[in-house]
Amino acid sequence: MNNETMMQYFEWYLPNDGLWWKRCAAKAENMAALGITQVWLPPAYKGTSQEDVGYGVYDMYDLGEFDQKGTIRTKYGTKEEYIEAVKAFHDAGIKVLADIVLNHRMGGDEVEDVTAVTDDPQNRNEQISGEQRIKARTKFTFPGRKGKYSDFIWDSSCFTGTDWDEESKSTSQIYRFAGKHWAPDTDTEFGNYDYLMGMDVDYSNRKVVRETRQWLRWYLKQTGVDGFRLDAVKHISAPFYRDMLKYVRTQTGSALPTVGEYWSGDIGKLLHYLDSVDNEMSLFDVSLHYNFFTASQAGADYDLRHILDNTILKERPQNAVTFVDNHDTQHGQSLQSFVEDWFKPHCYAIILLRKDGLPCVFYSDYYGNPVKNFPPVLNLGKLIKLRRFYAYGEQEDYLEDPHLIGWVRRGDEEHENSGMAVTMSNDQSGSIRMFMGKAFAGKEFSDAMQFCPETVTIDKEGWGTFPCEAQRVSIWVQQEAFEQLITTD
Ligand code: CA
Repeated sequence: MNNETMMQYFEWYLPNDGLWWKRCAAKAENMAALGITQVWLPPAYKGTSQEDVGYGVYDMYDLGEFDQKGTIRTKYGTKEEYIEAVKAFHDAGIKVLADIVLNHRMGGDEVEDVTAVTDDPQNRNEQISGEQRIKARTKFTFPGRKGKYSDFIWDSSCFTGTDWDEESKSTSQIYRFAGKHWAPDTDTEFGNYDYLMGMDVDYSNRKVVRETRQWLRWYLKQTGVDGFRLDAVKHISAPFYRDMLKYVRTQTGSALPTVGEYWSGDIGKLLHYLDSVDNEMSLFDVSLHYNFFTASQAGADYDLRHILDNTILKERPQNAVTFVDNHDTQHGQSLQSFVEDWFKPHCYAIILLRKDGLPCVFYSDYYGNPVKNFPPVLNLGKLIKLRRFYAYGEQEDYLEDPHLIGWVRRGDEEHENSGMAVTMSNDQSGSIRMFMGKAFAGKEFSDAMQFCPETVTIDKEGWGTFPCEAQRVSIWVQQEAFEQLITTD
């Protein structure tokens, strides 16, 4: 078995030129050679405008096929090009996860008169007004699609609430439609965090659930994607997704790898959510991301021995999709918490070279970002290859020093020259004596990151003393592996 590695194959600031799906298809072979086994692609359906990144969902049956919102293609291209990109990844042996945004809809076609009450934005469990009439853009007729694939018309009965009255145009209100209730099993921030934005979809409405299930089956069939990345799950009733995933898996007989975005650094909430959905999905390890962010800002004040504490990776590793940054944590985005440059190689070593978790590499970290003007993460390609070829076998941690930690992977029979020793510092240089195993006695190890010029020879008992430069990470591998990595870099 080879290690799996996911890549988030997009970022927020891509150009709106309709060429993204084509670029994806063209890169599929390269990604496979690098060691990528799954890609997460951005939402493929029509948003409120051509430049929409994909989260302002208008019509989920329009994958760049119909003339709606002033455009046939989406920011990323046409439906045909999307399907070709999925196929190109499949031909290269890479699975595709589709980004699924079910929490809200935007850009309705018609305004309806709706009776609503307002709730306190800071505590949505508290009603602060009586019933009033508002004008809400709740009717979605999709005139450009004309009922193809589905003749379902969305109206106010399909939504729980909104934050916008077309008449008064007053902002910062939370309108809840008469007779509707926020789903009780969402995140508890602001009392109840069912409402996020746009028209909040009501999944207590059976016809909405039925339509959504049909759409998901349609989507799988049309596109051939392998699984899902679920957007904003903390704003949606947990049982809805639990039952939905069970249903689709039963109906399609597919394994349907699925990872949810529950944006919280609170491990208690994350584990509670996993319990609530019967572990039917994995979650992005936001708790680990925040540990990385904190450590990168604190520098030598951070105790590296605790970098994995209170994370999904530690508490429920089989459900952890680990990552360093994503499109939302980028500078200027809603969840901005971008890990500092100097510490990124450390973080990628942690997610890529340890035994547990499914790591997800961020597109901008691999390629750099010309819009936000930051370079690629140093040695990231090499770290991905180190995972693919050499990060195998038993793992042992060395966590004595708060500022200099390490671990070894002892290799396995199946992967030639596998096994490694990792050392990382957030302060001074130093070294750690670690046990590789007697099988490695007499072997010479070199630093694949090329920060440390010396070699380390494993003694006859199987021990080696592995150095690390100040604030660096070193990955010590056998000579043959080192030469392989250097020549293919
Ligand atoms: Ca919601």
